[in-house]
Amino acid sequence: TLSDRLSRLVKTMRGQARITEGNVQDMLREVRMALLEADVALPVVRDFIARVKDKALGQEVAGSLNPGQTLVGIVHKELAATMGEGVADLNLAVQPPAVILMAGLQGAGKTTTTAKLAKHLIERRKKKVLTVSADVYRPAAIEQLKTVTKQAGAEWFPSTPTDKPRDIALAALDHARRHYFDVLLVDTAGRLAIDEALMAEIRDLHAAIHPVETLFVVDAMQGQDAINTARAFKEALPLTGIVLTKLDGDSRGGAALSVRQVAGAPIKFAGVSEKIDGLEVFDAERHAGRVLGMGDIVALVEEVQKGVDLKEAQKLADKVKAGGFDLNDFLSQISQMKKMGGLAGLMDKLPSQMTAKAKGADMDKAERDVRRMEGIINSMTALERRKPELLKASRKRRIAAGAGVHVQEVNRLLNQFEQMQGVMKKMKGGGLMKMMKRMGG
Ligand code: GDP
Ligand code: MG
Repeated sequence: TLSDRLSRLVKTMRGQARITEGNVQDMLREVRMALLEADVALPVVRDFIARVKDKALGQEVAGSLNPGQTLVGIVHKELAATMGEGVADLNLAVQPPAVILMAGLQGAGKTTTTAKLAKHLIERRKKKVLTVSADVYRPAAIEQLKTVTKQAGAEWFPSTPTDKPRDIALAALDHARRHYFDVLLVDTAGRLAIDEALMAEIRDLHAAIHPVETLFVVDAMQGQDAINTARAFKEALPLTGIVLTKLDGDSRGGAALSVRQVAGAPIKFAGVSEKIDGLEVFDAERHAGRVLGMGDIVALVEEVQKGVDLKEAQKLADKVKAGGFDLNDFLSQISQMKKMGGLAGLMDKLPSQMTAKAKGADMDKAERDVRRMEGIINSMTALERRKPELLKASRKRRIAAGAGVHVQEVNRLLNQFEQMQGVMKKMKGGGLMKMMKRMGG
C-alpha cells in the first residue's frame, strides 16, 4: 500500500535537515501514483503536486521530524485543504422557504439524496421539509421521490407530468410558502449525458425559483468522467455545493478532488449507502486519508517518528483475540506510550476530531497515573503478570507495599487492565488510540 511505501521512504530520509528537490522526488512520485490510482484527474494531480512541492521545498524540518515525515504532513494538509476545510453545511439563511435545487446526471443519486437531505434537515436542523420532482419524463421517477420522501418523514408535492418543470416547481414553492415550509427540495430530471436541451431546462428552472443552494450530485464511482460532468454543470448553473454519492463503493473517491476544483464549490455531503440514513456531512480530513489509501496519515507520521512498531501492536491484538492479553502486555502498551512522548505531547499532534474527547481529560494526571501503573506492575512477579487472577488480598498488599501505593491503587489498576482487555477484544489491531482515550478518561 501507499502507506507502506511512504513509510519506507520516510525512513530513508532520516538525518536530513531540510526538504530538497533531491530527497522528495521519490515521495512525490508515490503520492502522484496514489492520486492517479484514486482516479484524480491528471491536471488536478499535476497542480496538486506542484503546490505541495512549492510548500515543501526549503522548508525547515521541525523538531524531531525528518523531511519525509514533514512532507507527508504537507501532503495530507494540502489534500484536505483542496477538498475543503472544515464542514460546509447547507445554507438556509434566507426568508423561508429555502429552495434547494438538485442537479446531476441520471443515476447519480439525486432522488435518493433529496430524501436523505430531507431527513437530515428534519432531524438535525428541525426543519419542515417539502419535496417535489421536476422530472416530467419518467412518471416512475416522481413515484420514487414520493416513496423515499415518505421514508424520510417529509412531505411530497405531487407533480403534473404535463406541466413544465418550472411551473411544477413554482406551484410547489407557492404551496411551501402558504403552508410555512422551511425548505423546498427540488429534484430534477435525469440526464444520461450532458444534453443541451436538458441543461437549458434546468437553467430555466433555476432562474424561476432562485434556489439558495444548487447542489451538484455526482457519483464517486464515475472517476475521471466526473470532471467533465462537473464542468458542464458548472457552466450551466451557479453551483453552491457538491454531494459525492456512492462512497461506500470500491472507489477511492479521488473524484472529490477533481470535482471540487472544477465545480468551484465545496463538497457538503457524502452518500455512503442506498439507505435513507446513508448520508454524512463531508469530512475533508478523513477523505484525504482515504484518497491517499491510508487510514490516518497523521497517525502514521507519529508512529514512524516515535518508532512504535505496528507489527508489535498487531501481534498484541492477535494475542488478545486468542485470550492471552496479560499484565506484561499491558505494561508494554504503557511503555510504548511513554516512548511516544507522553500522552500530552501526543495529543497535541493528532487531528482534533480524533482527540476531542481525550483532550478534555487532565493530561498531567494521566501521565502520573501511567507512571504509577508501571510501578505497580513492576512490583509483581512474572507469574502474577501472566495470571492476574492470582492476585488475591495478600499478594495485592505485598505489591502495594513494593510500589509504595495503597492497595486501592492496585485494585484500580486491575480494573483498568480488565477494561483494557475488553477494549482490546473489540479492536482489530493497532488500537493505541483507543487505549489512550480509555486511559485519558
Ligand atoms: P438519480 O437518477 O440521480 O435520481 O439517482 P437515484 O437517486 O435514483 O439513484 C440511482 C441509484 O443509485 C439507486 O439505485 C440508488 O439506490 C443508488 N444510490 C444513490 N446514492 C447512493 C449511495 O450513496 N450509495 C449507494 N450504494 N447507492 C446509492
Ligand atoms: Mg431521480
